[in-house]
Amino acid sequence: MSSLTTSTASTLSYLVIGGGMSGLIAATVLRDRHIQVTVVDKGRAIGGRMATRRIKNAQYGEGVFDYGAQYFTVQNSRFQGLVNSWIQKGIVKQWSLNHHILSKEVYYRGVSSNRAIAHHLAENLDVHTNTRVVSFTWLDDHWQVQTETNDTFSADVLLLTPPLPQTLELLERSQIQLPPETKQRLEQIVYSRCIAVLALLAQPSQIPNPGGIQLDGNLLSWIACNRKKGISPQGNAVTLHANPKFSETHWEADNTFIANQLFAAASPWLGSSVIDYQVHRWRYSQPQTVYGEAYLVLTEPGPIVVCGDAFIQPNVEGAVLSGLAAADYLLNV
Ligand SMILES: Cc1cc2nc3c(=O)[nH]c(=O)nc-3n(C[C@H](O)[C@H](O)[C@H](O)COP(=O)(O)OP(=O)(O)OC[C@H]3O[C@@H](n4cnc5c(N)ncnc54)[C@H](O)[C@@H]3O)c2cc1C
Repeated sequence: MSSLTTSTASTLSYLVIGGGMSGLIAATVLRDRHIQVTVVDKGRAIGGRMATRRIKNAQYGEGVFDYGAQYFTVQNSRFQGLVNSWIQKGIVKQWSLNHHILSKEVYYRGVSSNRAIAHHLAENLDVHTNTRVVSFTWLDDHWQVQTETNDTFSADVLLLTPPLPQTLELLERSQIQLPPETKQRLEQIVYSRCIAVLALLAQPSQIPNPGGIQLDGNLLSWIACNRKKGISPQGNAVTLHANPKFSETHWEADNTFIANQLFAAASPWLGSSVIDYQVHRWRYSQPQTVYGEAYLVLTEPGPIVVCGDAFIQPNVEGAVLSGLAAADYLLNV
């Protein structure tokens, strides 16, 4: 890895592609070491699958919906330290879900929303949203990164954090060769799909406190009342997640069909008419298997590190740990 071994990390510039939890946490670690780091994300807002959206209604108030990750758990002590610091700052709190009566697992969520955790991480970072990277070229000992809108970023080192199929597509478009065995391992990792329906109700839902229920029915895997959760103070905002089987089977179905199916399945918890709704399709919801190492390093033609939730653990904690490990590698190489 020529430029990494001949320069110290602090003299290099880093471009992080993807402003989800893995990319943002890696960028904060580099920034804290006074390293020049830029984050680009194709989304209108950062956070990736830590996603929150609003539906406004003049009569029934504004609904605020967490519609990607709903909560996260902690096993790793380094992640626990970070979560504790977020709790102290009022960004994160425990959510007293009781999925299994015997489980001692603690659930956490963003206080004002899950996306707010990403916003907190992005404070004092150089972040560019609405910036979709289409390819990159190694030219004169640095990367030239092209975006959909024909902007160019340059950097010595790239950190790639999109879901793996999107990362593989970017590498292919950029004509970066992967060792065949590595490519095969990465291609074998598939993600489950999830169709989310965001419903604004006329009346409070029947979902009991604290506002989230894991389901294993024919259609639904999850239902949450964002008002009882405490993130939607005005509107009765309910998030419904279709299970992987329904999501796969009805991926191409029209929104009305999908919403009606989910509302029928959820009727005992809704208990009210739906005033407005939106449908969101998560093509890459959660990886079904993981790579098994915390990140991947590519050296030719220039330095690239790949990380994200498909590396060690298919969830928020895994995304953070992979991002931390990738940043540690870059600092210590
Ligand atoms: C419906 C749903 C429910 C979930 N529930 C839970 C849960 O309850 N608990 C839990 O722990 N986890 C849950 N997860 C998983 C969790 O959200 C993810 O594991 C984690 O957020 C992944 O973070 P990441 O940074 O690896 O990827 P992402 O959050 O996907 O971030 C990648 C970013 O890359 C950007 N990007 C992609 N391509 C480009 C490009 N070409 N140019 C620029 N930017 C690009 C994307 O816009 C995105 O912001 C859920 C996910 C979904 C979708």
